[in-house]
Amino acid sequence: MRIHQLGPLDGPDLPLLVERIKTPAPGPAELLIRVHACGVCHTEIDEIEGRTPPAHLPMTPGHQVVGTVVSEGPDCRRHLLQQRVGVAWIHSACGVCSWCLEGRENLCPDFRACGRDAPGGYAEYLSVPEAFAHPLPEAIGDLEATPLLCAGAVGFRALRLCRLENGQSLGLTGFGASGHLVLQMARHRYPDSAIFVFARSATEREFATQLGASWTGDSKDCPPHGLDAIIDTTPAWLPVLAAMEALAPGGRLVINAIRKEAADRDVLTELDYDRHLWREKTLSTVANVTRQDVRECLQLAAEIPLRPHVTAYALEDANEALRALKRGDLRGAKVLRLL
Ligand SMILES: [Zn+2]
Ligand SMILES: [Zn+2]
Repeated sequence: MRIHQLGPLDGPDLPLLVERIKTPAPGPAELLIRVHACGVCHTEIDEIEGRTPPAHLPMTPGHQVVGTVVSEGPDCRRHLLQQRVGVAWIHSACGVCSWCLEGRENLCPDFRACGRDAPGGYAEYLSVPEAFAHPLPEAIGDLEATPLLCAGAVGFRALRLCRLENGQSLGLTGFGASGHLVLQMARHRYPDSAIFVFARSATEREFATQLGASWTGDSKDCPPHGLDAIIDTTPAWLPVLAAMEALAPGGRLVINAIRKEAADRDVLTELDYDRHLWREKTLSTVANVTRQDVRECLQLAAEIPLRPHVTAYALEDANEALRALKRGDLRGAKVLRLL
C-alpha cells in the first residue's frame, strides 16, 4: 500500500494504492523481513497530508512493523535469520556524528525514518539495516507488539526525559494511545508515585482512573499540589501553559508531540514569568526514538506485562484504518494484519 500523492486524507482520491512490486533485495548489512503485522499511526496521516512528507513518492509507509527475518546480506552478524523482530521509526542513523556517539541517535542530522525516508511496513516485505531490527520478547504477540514500537517507545522516551524518581508525582496531559501506555509503564517503574491525568473527555478520565491514576481533571484544572514532572501529548498550547503552572519548583515539562497546531497559539501571550517559569522549571520536547528506547520499552512491556488493545484490519483496508484513526476513534490501536 503506497502513497502516490500528498493531499487531505478525506479527499476524493484514496491516499494509498494497492500495488504489486518487486520484493526488495537486502543490502550487504541488511535483513529482508516478511511482515506479519504493521501498526497504523497518526504520523502516516502527517505524511499523507504533507506535514512530514515522504522523502520521495511513491512511498510505502509504516513504522511499527513485526515480522520474520527471511534472508540476510553477507555482512550480517547477529544471527537473526528466522527470528521474529520489530522495526520502529528509527530506520537508521549515521553512527559517527556527536549525537550518535552520545547515544542520542534520535537527533542525528542523517536520521532516517522507516516508512518516510525508506519503505516501511504497509507491505508484505521490507528490508532494514540489521543493526536497527529488534528481536521481540516471546511473551508479546505480533499485533500487540506493534503499538509498543511507536506510541510505547516514544512514551518511554518521554518518561525517561522526566527524570522521575520513585515517589515523585507525574502528570499526563492528554490521554491517547501513548498516554495509556505511559501510565502503565510509570505505575510499574515508580510504584510510589501518584499519577495525575488531565484530559478533556470524561471517558478518557474514567479510563485513566481504571488504569490507576490517583487524580483526574480537565486540561486546565489545577491539581491539589505542584507536580514534579508532566508529559504533554496534546496538539494545543493551552495545556502547555496550564502544565507549566501546575509544576512544582524544579519541575519538568516534556512535550511529546510532533507538531503543535496554530489554533490557540495566542494563549502564549499570557506566559507569565512568575507563574509559569520561575523556580527552575524546565521545558523540553521529545523527537524520534533511539534503539535503546525501543529495546527497553519492549523489555518493560514483557515484564509488566503490558498488552495494548488492538483492532486488526487487512492490509488492503489501510485507507479505512487511517480514516478511522483521523475520526478520533482511539480505543484500541489499529493494526494491519498480514499473517
Ligand atoms: Zn508512530
Ligand atoms: Zn548521527
